[in-house]
Amino acid sequence: MNECLRQLVETFGPSGHEHRVRALIADLVGGHVDELRTDAMGNLVALKRGDGTGQRLMLAAHMDEIGLMASYIDEKGFVRVQPIGGVSPWLEVGGRVQFQNGSLGVVSHDKLGHGEAVPPMEKLFIDVGAASRQDCPVGLGDVACFVQPMVQVGGLLTAKAMDDRVGCAVLIETLRRLAATPHDCYVVFSAQEEVGTRGAVTAAYGVAPDVGLAVDVTLAGDVPEPAVRMATALGAGPAIKVKDGGMIATPWVKDWMIDVAQAEGLPWQLEVLPGGTTDARAIQTSRDGVPAGCLSIPCRYVHSPSETVSPADLGHAVDLLVAMLRRPLPR
Ligand SMILES: [Zn+2]
Repeated sequence: MNECLRQLVETFGPSGHEHRVRALIADLVGGHVDELRTDAMGNLVALKRGDGTGQRLMLAAHMDEIGLMASYIDEKGFVRVQPIGGVSPWLEVGGRVQFQNGSLGVVSHDKLGHGEAVPPMEKLFIDVGAASRQDCPVGLGDVACFVQPMVQVGGLLTAKAMDDRVGCAVLIETLRRLAATPHDCYVVFSAQEEVGTRGAVTAAYGVAPDVGLAVDVTLAGDVPEPAVRMATALGAGPAIKVKDGGMIATPWVKDWMIDVAQAEGLPWQLEVLPGGTTDARAIQTSRDGVPAGCLSIPCRYVHSPSETVSPADLGHAVDLLVAMLRRPLPR
């Protein structure tokens, strides 16, 4: 799965520009599903058909990553930007980004004002090595994302876009390993999650599932002084979400995950996240309401160029999902 993850994280795919990730995933799951289609929002919807005795499930992981959009190019050829998704300017500074046309750039910022410790977004610029506006290889509306190869750091893996290509990798591997299931499993690789779960909103309406599950990253509390005090730790198993800033997991869906993890002897932990949300919120609040939950991969340094996960958690997430999907639902 590590090689699959490397391909996924190193592929360009800011929100609304997921086409390369979509093509890669279509390639990777092609032989393992009964149907594959792309909808108008850019979601890739894969269907693995059940044996007719189960229910209609939607599993979602988002293909998009945070990024920057060129909003103004000055006379010297420096590019001003607006954020795509939850971009922290201070995590961009000094980093390298790449535009869709391959142009590379370095992110820096204007002189800070008195008492200004962190540059606001308006002070960020990208140096693409241009000499003038005319010479600039980037146009208005062009989007960029971090450039970072995936590397191994001790026993951990670090890359850009682990959020949420780890979720994509887990669902791809689940589809590959899921030989037979009672359920019609609609696996949605969703678009535009980072700008407000927009792809999952329309996908959930279209699929109209009986139950929904998202697979996404969550914050890890196992760093020296975490910004958010959380019980989650890398390597302690996938985290079963209780709540986040946008969703309270449907209790029986949460318990379903816990019960199967325990029955299979798999490691798991609970996630109680104060802010943020996932595609599970979009599924849960679609139509007249859908029971929904989320399986999370603990991740350090979320929305930085060095999002860091434990490969063991990915493997255990796949084990758990495969075990869940092979059984009848608890209700
Ligand atoms: Zn995410």
